[in-house]
Amino acid sequence: MSKVSLRIVPILFGVFFSPVFGQDRFVIDEELQTYIQEKALDDTISESIGTVSNGSLKHGKLVPYKGRNFMYFDRTSYLEGRAFLNDLALKSMLSTYDSLLAALPQRYFNVMECSHEHGGEMFPHRTHQNGLSIDFMMPLVKDGSPYYGLDTIGLEHYALQFDDNGRYTKDTTITIDFDLVARQILLLDHFAKQNGLAVFKVIIKIELKDELFATQYGQRLKESRIYVVRGLSPLINSLHDDHFHIDLGFKFTKTPPAQNKQTFSPPND
Ligand SMILES: [Zn+2]
Repeated sequence: MSKVSLRIVPILFGVFFSPVFGQDRFVIDEELQTYIQEKALDDTISESIGTVSNGSLKHGKLVPYKGRNFMYFDRTSYLEGRAFLNDLALKSMLSTYDSLLAALPQRYFNVMECSHEHGGEMFPHRTHQNGLSIDFMMPLVKDGSPYYGLDTIGLEHYALQFDDNGRYTKDTTITIDFDLVARQILLLDHFAKQNGLAVFKVIIKIELKDELFATQYGQRLKESRIYVVRGLSPLINSLHDDHFHIDLGFKFTKTPPAQNKQTFSPPND
C-alpha cells in the first residue's frame, strides 16, 4: 500500500497516528525538481479512456507543484503520482488560475488530488480514474479576509470538518468563501469549453449547496447548466466539505476530438 493510502486510511477514520505537521510547501527541493523534470518529457496528447469511475489515462500531464497563485496541497501525494490530469483538463485549470490572478491578485488557491499518471483506481477515491477529476480546496475567510491557516496540513486537509453553514467546526470564525467557490467553478467551465470540455459534475456536501447558491456567483452557477450533485452517500457527503470535486467531460459527443475515447452518459447519483 502506498504511503498516501497508509496515511489516508487513519485520516478518514478520524484517528491520527502521525503528528500533524506543516510542510515547507514553497520549497521545490531536488527530489521534486527531478520528479518534475522527468514527468515533463512526455508531450504526447493525453487520452482519457472510459469514465471517471472506470477508466484510465494515457500521457497524463503533471500538475505544476506551484504556480503564481496556486499550489498542490501535499508533497507526498505529489511524489506518489497522484497529481496527473488530461492535458486539456490541466490547460483549463491553469487558465482558471490565470484568470483568478488577474481578478484577485492577492488570492491564493490549492489544488488537491487528481489522477494517477496512467489513471485507474486511486484509493480511496471512487472516481479520479481518467484524468478528468480534480479536487479543489475550499477557499476560506476569517473576519472578512482570506485565511490560509489550514492550507498547509497536506493530506489531513481531507479530514477537516465544516458545519452545514460552512463554518470550520473547531473555529467557527473560519468560513468557506462560497462566492469564490462558485466563481472558480464558472471560470473552470468557461475555460474547459474552450478546450472542448465542460464541467459535468460538481460534488459538494449537499448541506452546503444553499450557502453556495446564495452568493452572487452561486446564483449564476444555479442558473447555469452545470450539474451540482443532488444526493450523495453519507460518507461521500461528509468528505466534501473541506474541498469540492469536479468531473470534467468532453463537450462534443457527436464530433469528439481525436483523443476523446470517453463514453459519456448523463450524470446520475
Ligand atoms: Zn474528488
